[in-house]
Amino acid sequence: MKYPKVVLTADRTLMSPYRGISLASFFGCAPALDLNRKQTSLLYRILGNQVTPRLLFDFICNPIGHTNGIANYAPYGLRKVEAALIRDGYSREDVVVAHPDYIEQFIGPETQAVGTYEMDPLGMGPVTMTFTYGRRQMSYDEYYCRDLHHRINKAKARNGSKAKVIAGASGTWQYNYDPAKIEEYGLYGIVEGDLGGIGPEIDGASAGGKFFDALIDGEMDTANPFKKSKFKIDIKEFSRNGREYHGRFIHYWDEPSVEDIPDIVKPSMHGMSEVMRGCGRGCKFCDVTLRPLRYYPVEKVQKEIEINMKYGGLKNAWIHSDDIFVYGLNPRTTKNMQPNREALEELFKGIMATGIEHTNPTHGTLAGAIADERLIPNVSKIIRASPDNHIGIQCGFETGSTRLIGKYADRKLAPFKPVEWHWVVKTGVKTLNEHYWVPAFTLIMGLDNDETPEDSWETIRLIHELEVEQPESKFTVTPLTFVPIGLLEKSEFFDIGSTMDPAKLGVMYKTWQHNFRYGIQKFMRKVGRNNLIKNLFFAALARTLGGVPLTSMERFARQKGPEHEKVIEKIKANYW
Ligand code: SF4
Repeated sequence: MKYPKVVLTADRTLMSPYRGISLASFFGCAPALDLNRKQTSLLYRILGNQVTPRLLFDFICNPIGHTNGIANYAPYGLRKVEAALIRDGYSREDVVVAHPDYIEQFIGPETQAVGTYEMDPLGMGPVTMTFTYGRRQMSYDEYYCRDLHHRINKAKARNGSKAKVIAGASGTWQYNYDPAKIEEYGLYGIVEGDLGGIGPEIDGASAGGKFFDALIDGEMDTANPFKKSKFKIDIKEFSRNGREYHGRFIHYWDEPSVEDIPDIVKPSMHGMSEVMRGCGRGCKFCDVTLRPLRYYPVEKVQKEIEINMKYGGLKNAWIHSDDIFVYGLNPRTTKNMQPNREALEELFKGIMATGIEHTNPTHGTLAGAIADERLIPNVSKIIRASPDNHIGIQCGFETGSTRLIGKYADRKLAPFKPVEWHWVVKTGVKTLNEHYWVPAFTLIMGLDNDETPEDSWETIRLIHELEVEQPESKFTVTPLTFVPIGLLEKSEFFDIGSTMDPAKLGVMYKTWQHNFRYGIQKFMRKVGRNNLIKNLFFAALARTLGGVPLTSMERFARQKGPEHEKVIEKIKANYW
């Protein structure tokens, strides 16, 4: 048997439909193992090292389907890389997107490169760090990523493969903080930024096949600053615990035109399809904004949706956009970032014309959503939003601090002003909810390491005001730690492990309490409402899923001391 030249894959936590429960994808952040548990303890005798029982995790994180070991669906970024390789002359037999459970079948003597897609490889994402007490336990994200790399290495050793393993996607920054893993996983290189369409854009005509050719031909073996190369190689050296480690970090920058971006050729996870790249809003903490704005014409979007429908039997389309409400406008000439309603209506009419039953844009700004009062009602009608067809959208809440939002993201609010931020958030939630949209907010913890306790409390207060003033409102809030990219790339990372002051723990605690009470519990109660057994099971699951992090944070506060404990008490008393 001839093995493929390039194998692309991702670990189980990124290759699961999570039984169709979108919020359950957070479950990868749950603790898997406690390697310090006393062997004499009762818990050890019952569960061994397991924290969240693996049986439970594996049930929720059910593996994606496969055909002879080839994944039936894959993260969109991997699909773009696959499509770019096929476009650039790699044959279908040369490139395989492997199911993680069958990776061994595809790595052999002819395999030259293995690309892994990684979002939280070492469990250092903000939510994960909280659940695992700053990585004192091992999360499922890390557990399954480690499992994947160990299996890749075993397969290489067994089948005599010299394949170069490169890790890509939004979580690769984590290797800077635990470089021993670069050695343990035998990583040849780490692509800084995303691997695929949503990042350094290695699917453009000047990369794609050329990127993998350079990787395979050894062009990336040395970091020669005098040799002209599109791919900047940075050999980083790290000293840890008296040992030296090295990592080859690969940087690449390209801005392919829309015509140079390939269409996916096989189905993507969740029916993902992008409609634009870049964003003109200029938030300083975001690198998307540094890229030029490009829009897919409606026909290109339709082609990808049709691939997902035809080969994946999908009936829904997640529309990847950085700010969907910027689609079709020119930020240089459009006054106040006024949305181009006609272009958006055409886009969504085109999407629905494919015969898809459900669609939702992945990202959008609150200001964009309410800048034109006919926009959300009209688009909602087109995409048939209803009480039985809610539209999820991720929106940047970023911070409740009007000082920070004005300093770092004033154009995110256009046409409104930073002092109006709280009004924008409240009106945005109201407008979206009224038309059956549910925003999933993300906020940034430790923005540019400039967040004061007063800023954090403003965030806590704003979330609470929303709950009190709009008790029926539907939204979730996920805190993310500040990563220095975009115009702030020279800043320091926010280190959640050692910089979690009491007020920031308060933000974490409040967000999870909100998600538990207003999101998970309400949502889970609806799952299986026609089946008593199923309903009871999911209600119990909601309690387990939601309660564990809150208890973990309370324990964390007790360990940290009275200042942290006081914040938890204050939130319980005043902002619950
Ligand atoms: S609106 Fe979103 S995508 Fe656009 S620059 Fe700001 S953070 Fe980035």
